[in-house]
Amino acid sequence: MNLFIDIATLVTVSGAYYIIFLILLFVFWLKNKDIEAILWWCGFPLFRIIYTLIGTDSQSYDDHLIIHVGNLSLILSDLFLMIGCLKFAEINIKFNYIYGFVGLFVAIAAYQYFIGAGLTDRTKIVVAFDVFPIVTSLYALTHLNSDNYRLEKYFTMFWVSFQLGVFGFWVVINFNFSDEKFGLMVLLSLSIAYLSHIFIMVGLIILTIAKRRNQLIEESVKHKALEKSLETALYDAQLANEEKTQFLTNMSHELRTPLNAIIGFSESMKLKFYGTLNEKQTEYIDNIHDGGELLLKLVTDLLNLSHVEEGKVDISPENINLNMLIKKTRPLLEEIVENSGIKFHIQNNLENDENLSPVYIDQVRIKQILINFVSNAAKYGKDDGNIHLIVEDQSDEYYRISVSDEGEGIKEDQYENIFKPFNRAGNENSNIEGIGLGLSIAKKLIEEMHGYIGFESELGIGSIFWIDIPKSKQRELALK
Ligand code: ADP
Repeated sequence: MNLFIDIATLVTVSGAYYIIFLILLFVFWLKNKDIEAILWWCGFPLFRIIYTLIGTDSQSYDDHLIIHVGNLSLILSDLFLMIGCLKFAEINIKFNYIYGFVGLFVAIAAYQYFIGAGLTDRTKIVVAFDVFPIVTSLYALTHLNSDNYRLEKYFTMFWVSFQLGVFGFWVVINFNFSDEKFGLMVLLSLSIAYLSHIFIMVGLIILTIAKRRNQLIEESVKHKALEKSLETALYDAQLANEEKTQFLTNMSHELRTPLNAIIGFSESMKLKFYGTLNEKQTEYIDNIHDGGELLLKLVTDLLNLSHVEEGKVDISPENINLNMLIKKTRPLLEEIVENSGIKFHIQNNLENDENLSPVYIDQVRIKQILINFVSNAAKYGKDDGNIHLIVEDQSDEYYRISVSDEGEGIKEDQYENIFKPFNRAGNENSNIEGIGLGLSIAKKLIEEMHGYIGFESELGIGSIFWIDIPKSKQRELALK
């Protein structure tokens, strides 16, 4: 019984493997397009398939041209393996040398074709040219600098170098393939060469997987380091914020005492407790008093903000009738616009008291917000325009109080700054007084009470600011 397969069968069987590995490598590349080497490696089985199709039965061709084309495919196959390995190891490739190399091979093969060189001479040239891509591939693989995929690297290198072993054997027998006594050995050497190709392709695939795994490990280490530095940055920022808040609180307290003295004494002088003042003195005392009051308001805002930021703000909610609250707040709000040319209108659209569900709020804080809305409407509104305060039933869950003016409005690119503390949303250089704190405090206060704040504005038409106050019923539901 003949236990040995002939060369033609060997080439055909390995051809089937090349097709499978070509598909595998290509699919692999589709999923890992960032590893360019895989696409080059596809050329390795691809040109072997071409060789298989052309050269399976090379001895039976009358015209040797096709055999030379098959040999060129072999060289190209190993060149593609080499380029892939160089790319994989991130080694710079000089393509001009490769073109020159292929050109030289084609020239020699053409010469051999014309002189009708035999199998031995043809094989010698193929082996001589094939040593270069194989050795270069090994060189590239040794340059893979990773401890994490050593095993995969040596596995691939082992099978690549096997080809050199086969060539070595052919050199030893002086390419005497037709000698009967080497027949079996030649067949064995070819079998080993084809086997090595299959394992080289396995090696390329596991190398790619190893590289991907290594990238993941490196990325996760980087992420961990980033996470750590973010945590530290966050901790530092919190610490700095606490220090700033503490500083604001202390400063505001320190400033209020002398300010109260300035306001108190200037008021006594205004009221002529210490005798009459001349016209100039009265004017200056008025200035001192007004300036003091303004400073006190700013300092109080600062203190408010630092308290809100520290979470120290005391919200004392109770069940309040909104109609009552509006009635009580009205004089305060009217006073704000009193001496300006602005007309102030209050429109309460709520139902009568009996049907009105109470709201669970801190009425002092709501007053504070409304004062801020109305004074802003007076500051940024039209000098002889109107301010409308409207109270209405917004939905099943909220009442809405809105304050609208007929001012210049707010530019769209400033919308995001409106509720930022110390941000005057484009009014930094205007002569309208303010430090950009009122609305940021208002936002924090209403949110403490589970409500919302918002605004709409149209350039040249005016702005409307509103708060939505949750109805008690809804609050109770939410708490359950
Ligand atoms: P302040 O008035 O002290 O600057 P606020 O926090 O109350 O601070 O307001 C922040 C900014 O929002 C203001 O500087 C102003 O640019 C803008 N703004 C507030 N209310 C109005 C309004 N009714 N019309 C136009 N702009 C407004």
